[in-house]
Amino acid sequence: MKRLLATLQTGRLTKRLDDLLALPASSPGIPLLRPERLSDEVRAALVALCPSGAFAEDGGEFRLDLAACVACGRCLRRHPDAIGEWRTLDVAVTRRDDLVQRVDLARGTLIEPSDPPPSRPELRLPTLGCRAVSAGNGGLDDSEIALAGNPYHDMSRFGFTLVASPRHADALLVTGPVSENMLPPLERTYHAMAAPKAVVAVGNEAIAGELFAGSPCVRGGVDRVLDVDVYVPGSPARPASILFGLLLLVGRVRQTLVGGQPRSQRPAPPRP
Ligand code: SF4
Repeated sequence: MKRLLATLQTGRLTKRLDDLLALPASSPGIPLLRPERLSDEVRAALVALCPSGAFAEDGGEFRLDLAACVACGRCLRRHPDAIGEWRTLDVAVTRRDDLVQRVDLARGTLIEPSDPPPSRPELRLPTLGCRAVSAGNGGLDDSEIALAGNPYHDMSRFGFTLVASPRHADALLVTGPVSENMLPPLERTYHAMAAPKAVVAVGNEAIAGELFAGSPCVRGGVDRVLDVDVYVPGSPARPASILFGLLLLVGRVRQTLVGGQPRSQRPAPPRP
């Protein structure tokens, strides 16, 4: 309470972007595969312990899909040698594949993706009107979008506002796995927007369906029905991650995650 009062008195409620992107100490970080530590036993244990099926192995590859991770922290606690931890929230990407870590089991190394595509030049706008649509979401990601506008995050200082009509929107923020009953309203909203227009998938459900994936009642991700410009992972996606995703959309920040790994931690490419 004392801290809150001091903050209100000094008028420093709104945080700098760097401070917002730092993960609180109480939250588990993002798991990072360490290929050299992934023995047969460890890989089998990881597949068995993850409650959301984020780990998978087939075709000579071992994969970790960050869009399926619900941040329970089990893999980090039980296998700290094989799983590293990354503690920031600048996790939004322009390409779905950049949320997946892939290990080539024959070589024992991470598979290196190409550089991610840049944001579309026509979307590099000084201000951005955002229309949010909940396409079957449980409500958490929708709350986080609302929180991105509170005085603490204050997305309006970057020129981002939530608008009430798709006619005024440049970006469509979609949450939820796209349930069959929400598909027609989602498509109507998208078609009511003027070009240039963007689609942002907010949260794991909107990216890949998460726990609803495989249900006959959902499409299993927004990019199954609309072209997606930016993916913001999280369960739910944090307000700071949503802010970072919007900044990525308008070309004001550089994408950090490539192939599911932060750029600074990617191994050097193999010598020819
Ligand atoms: S932290 Fe994520 S990847 Fe690890 S066990 Fe939990 S849900 Fe699975």
